[in-house]
Parts: sequence; structure tokens; C-alpha cells
Amino acid sequence: MATDATDGLLQMMEPDFDDVCRAAQRLQGQAHHTPILTSRTVNERVSAEVLFKAEHLQRIGAFKFRGAWNAIARLDEQQRRRGVLAYSSGNHAQAVALAAREQQTTATIVMPEDAPPAKLAATRAYGARVVLYDRYNEDREAIASDLAEREALSLIPPYDHPDVIAGQGTAAMELFKEAGEIDTLLVCLGGGGLLAGSALVARQLSPHCRLIGVEPEAGNDGQQSLARGEIVTIPAPRTLADGAATTHLGHLTFPIIRREVSDILTVSDTALTRTMRFFAERMKQFVEPTGCLAAAALLEGLIDVSNQRVGVLISGGNIDPDRYARLLTEQA
Ligand SMILES: *Cc1c(COP(=O)(O)O)cnc(C)c1O
Repeated sequence: MATDATDGLLQMMEPDFDDVCRAAQRLQGQAHHTPILTSRTVNERVSAEVLFKAEHLQRIGAFKFRGAWNAIARLDEQQRRRGVLAYSSGNHAQAVALAAREQQTTATIVMPEDAPPAKLAATRAYGARVVLYDRYNEDREAIASDLAEREALSLIPPYDHPDVIAGQGTAAMELFKEAGEIDTLLVCLGGGGLLAGSALVARQLSPHCRLIGVEPEAGNDGQQSLARGEIVTIPAPRTLADGAATTHLGHLTFPIIRREVSDILTVSDTALTRTMRFFAERMKQFVEPTGCLAAAALLEGLIDVSNQRVGVLISGGNIDPDRYARLLTEQA
């Protein structure tokens, strides 16, 4: 399971399906069991049966609550007394802040100074201490690990941690348990916590499921990594999909993704705003740009799914309403 003390080194181990099952038990009554949404318009457009897992309706407005809750639930008493630390461009920050407060610990969050104002405000509103940094010139991982060491805080990484990956996998677990086997599952990809967690579940509950990751065009490090067979690091990408603006996959997420994922597709910012509009207009759903990645790949026709059952993860809905309105207006 999570840690292995061989050679006195605390080494992170790859999580497995049983870890996702245990995470699901811990999340019972804490996270929402989010609905599956369907649309005849979508089904007709892509000649398939499409099931949207609505994680924008999850607590804090994104699936990140699952991994954060699970990771904090695994801490011991002493660790909880000292507090937790996270670095995030937004949703993970809110998730750790809320899960920390509800599990009687305190959260410090390292966030980029240009993070969406709604995400900064929400994180502070959940009672977290926020430490800002410049995401184009400073290394958030270095800042976070310095702070963690100085104050003996437990670091909860946004994706590269077995308990986080296992927690994120519970979203796909709900989808498969409710809907049965699926032919193709499309999952947005940042650092790969959601995709890796989904892969662990798919392999058990729907073994023939084709897994596809979807990244922003400007930040296709995952696609490059899969092609090269090693983790490729890119400069901080500028994309509307701020939740997937990661520079590299994780040491835990990459091997799982490499083994289980068939393909990684990319979508442009304009495809993301078109998809936001589609969700608003046709499905009455308020979805942030990053949350649209997987759906955009489908709706833009990047993949043939005819006559299949297709799962699409909608990952989040946190965006300032003013900015949301501006994006839809500019695009019109
Ligand atoms: C974090 C996040 C992602 C990317 O998830 P990873 O686990 O880093 O791949 C996608 N969408 C939203 C809304 C997110 O908050």
C-alpha cells in the first residue's frame, strides 16, 4: 500500500484498486455521489451513448475534494495537530482547505498570485492561510517543501500521492458501479491524479474500457511523455484550462498512465469556450474551462466513438461568473 519503509526510506508506492475501495468508504457521507448527466443532442451528434460524470457538482465544485479528504483522513493524530500544506492553482487548494477544516486540522496553501480571484477568495473563506508566489519565476514545489519542513506540516500534493490518486479514483468508481461497463472513458489530464485513479478502477470494473486523457493544447506534456516513454517537463503553459496547467506528470501517476491509457488528445482554448457554451446552452451546466477538456475532445470530433458507451468526466465548475460571461461573449 501507501508506504514502504525498506532501506529506511519512506518510499511512495503505487496505489491499487483496493486503495480506491478504501477511499470510497472514507468518503461515504463526506463527498457527494455526483449525478450522471445525459443529452440526446450529444448522443445524436457523436452517434453514441454518452454519460457525463458531473464532478463540477462535487463539494468545492471539483473532484479534488475526494483526494484531499482521503489524504487527510489517513494522517495520524500528531500530523493533524501540526496541520497540512498544499500548493495549487485553485481547486486542490479549496479541497484541502475544506477537508482540513472538517477533519479538525489547519491548512496552509501556496497559490500563484495570478490564480482566479474566486479561487483565492474561496480558499481563504474555508479558513486556510494563503501564501502567494509568482508562477512564471518561482518553483512552487520548492517553496512548499521549505514551508512544510520549517513548520512540520504534512504536504498534500495535488496529484502525485497514493492517497490522492486513490481518492480521485472514486469518481470513476461511482460511474462504473452505476452505469456498468463503458467502451471509452475520456478524462481531463493535468498532473494525472484523476486519470491514474480512473485507470485503477477501469481495469477492474470495465477491463475492456479504452482510456483517453485530454490535455490543453498549450500544455501537452502528458502527450509528449507518453510518446517518449519518460516524464517530459515543459515551461508553465498559458491556457484557459488553469486546472490542467501543470508542467509534468507525477512519478506515481506516469507509470499508471503509461500502462493503462491508450491515447492522450489535446484541445485548444477556443474549443474549451465552445464547449462551455454548449454546456450552458444545451445542458444548463456551469463548467469551468478545465472541466470542459474531456467533453471538448468528444464534441469537437477528435475521437470516433460511434455505437459505443462513452464516459466523460466533467471535472470542475469553479470560475468567476464575470470571467465566464466574458469568455462566452468574446467567443460568440
Ligand atoms: C486538478 C484539476 C484537473 C486535473 O487533474 P489532475 O489530477 O491534476 O490530472 C482537471 N480539472 C479540474 C477542474 C481540476 O481542478
